[in-house]
Amino acid sequence: MTKVFVNPGHDQLELKGTSDYDPGAVNEEMGLYENEIAAAVGRLVEKYLTEAGCEVKSLQHESLRKIYETANEWGADLFISIHCNAFNGVANGTETLTYPSDMEGHKLAGCIQNQIVDSLGTYDRGLKARTDLAVLNGTDMPAVLVEMAFIDHPDDAVLLRDEQDEFARAIARGVTDYLSGY
Ligand SMILES: [Zn+2]
Repeated sequence: MTKVFVNPGHDQLELKGTSDYDPGAVNEEMGLYENEIAAAVGRLVEKYLTEAGCEVKSLQHESLRKIYETANEWGADLFISIHCNAFNGVANGTETLTYPSDMEGHKLAGCIQNQIVDSLGTYDRGLKARTDLAVLNGTDMPAVLVEMAFIDHPDDAVLLRDEQDEFARAIARGVTDYLSGY
């Protein structure tokens, strides 16, 4: 059984009330918080992947180190971190990040990226290699970080608010596409 580790981003609870606390990106006008959207989509991804026959473990609210160490100790086969992007209110779309030398992660990222862009109709910003993200360089297994859409872009924000189930289904289908060698 494939073991998939799901990490909704941000909201490390032990830092709450300190200047280091990070709830992720916020759209104040619409009352949207990245950590909450990531948590909601993460719960649904867990549900759909479990239904698809995967073993799923999900962890948020901890330090990045604790998150990748937990995934490594559990022996996850795949690691998926779930995020919303933010920039200047104009940038929009979906992008999926991987560690440069992680070829299997790159394949998984392509499957997830295609599913999200196809089913949500978001702008395809493509796959991006990143060396500076702890959850990508600390994990021992193929790992991706999905930036589903931009929380500070009006159209993307509506999708993030109203289509969480569709994002989750797309991410889960991306995983099953990858596992079937698509
Ligand atoms: Zn984030």
